[in-house]
Amino acid sequence: MRIVIKLGSSSVTEIDGSISEATLKEIARQIFQVRRLGHQVVLVSSGAIASGLKILKLYERPSDQVLLRAAASVGQGVVIGAYREIFASFDLEIAQLLMIPGDFADRSQYLHARETLDSLLDLNVVPVINENDALSNEQLRYGDNDKVAALVANLIGADHLLLLTDQIGLFSADPRSVEDASLIQEVEEVNSELLEIAGGSGSDIGSGGMASKLLAAKMASWSGVSCTIASAQEPDVVLRVLTGDSVLGTRVKPRAKRLSARKVWIAFACLSSGVIVVDQGARRALLSGGGSLLPAGVLEVRGVFGYGEAVSVESVDRQIFAKGIVKMDSSDIIELKGLGSKDVGSRPYLEVIHRDNLVLLT
Ligand code: GLU
Repeated sequence: MRIVIKLGSSSVTEIDGSISEATLKEIARQIFQVRRLGHQVVLVSSGAIASGLKILKLYERPSDQVLLRAAASVGQGVVIGAYREIFASFDLEIAQLLMIPGDFADRSQYLHARETLDSLLDLNVVPVINENDALSNEQLRYGDNDKVAALVANLIGADHLLLLTDQIGLFSADPRSVEDASLIQEVEEVNSELLEIAGGSGSDIGSGGMASKLLAAKMASWSGVSCTIASAQEPDVVLRVLTGDSVLGTRVKPRAKRLSARKVWIAFACLSSGVIVVDQGARRALLSGGGSLLPAGVLEVRGVFGYGEAVSVESVDRQIFAKGIVKMDSSDIIELKGLGSKDVGSRPYLEVIHRDNLVLLT
């Protein structure tokens, strides 16, 4: 089996930003164990910013993005150095891969990344992936590695995504304030109610809270990958997840109908540059499946975007129900909105979003 394991900053580093050697050793031991059983492992690891801040003696996380990027580039080397040393003591070779959203967006980069990862796994190397924070652009960064891990799981066709965190799973309410909060062991479908339960960030160290983990689990589920959210401190967590231990964290089931990698990317990975509001007829046509969005159904355009960018599709009751890649820029859509094919004269009547580039989010 192929498994992607994500370790957050709160697992990789201690509260003061130093490397959590005990956790990394334990993860290395478990990876060594499951590798001997024939499983392949990819790690997605945070910790660069936390570790860099400690080295630079910046005890409070700055809001200045340039400083954070600088801290990430200092810390990334420390994190990977620790992995290298600790994993070597278990005879495990590691490789570093730093990825940006564009690597998942651009088809040729995507295939390139897949080839590299496949080759590393064939060579028995454990890839250790992080977002390339040092050069990332605030608007164009994922910011949390949960999403990166889900995209990697989709990219390599993983069987399982294991999101390790400092909590034992998703609870029905915040266990720190609600006494009878119970662990949700199995999730069929990540819906808005669950996302609300997951609320904001759980720990102060990393950037991804439970809500971000659930969104990543949803991405995995839509890609046909099962996902477990569990504590990094759980004994033998990696082995247990691979043997299907049902009393471990929160397990999110894969959807029976999986989306193509491209549609998962459109739905979750690609940042939305604007909104197109459509009428009820267009909404019905899109939701009943198989339809493209035509200019006739467009009521309003919000934001300025160009050909090939991703936009959200909203109904008149302000519900975003789809997302897609546009075939014309925002000014053309504004010009053509509401017009049928007969109204555009000799101009070609193009789709605003072709159905192959449209994903229903409901
Ligand atoms: N990729 C980041 C890291 O490795 C994410 C965590 C953060 O923003 O603090 O540090």
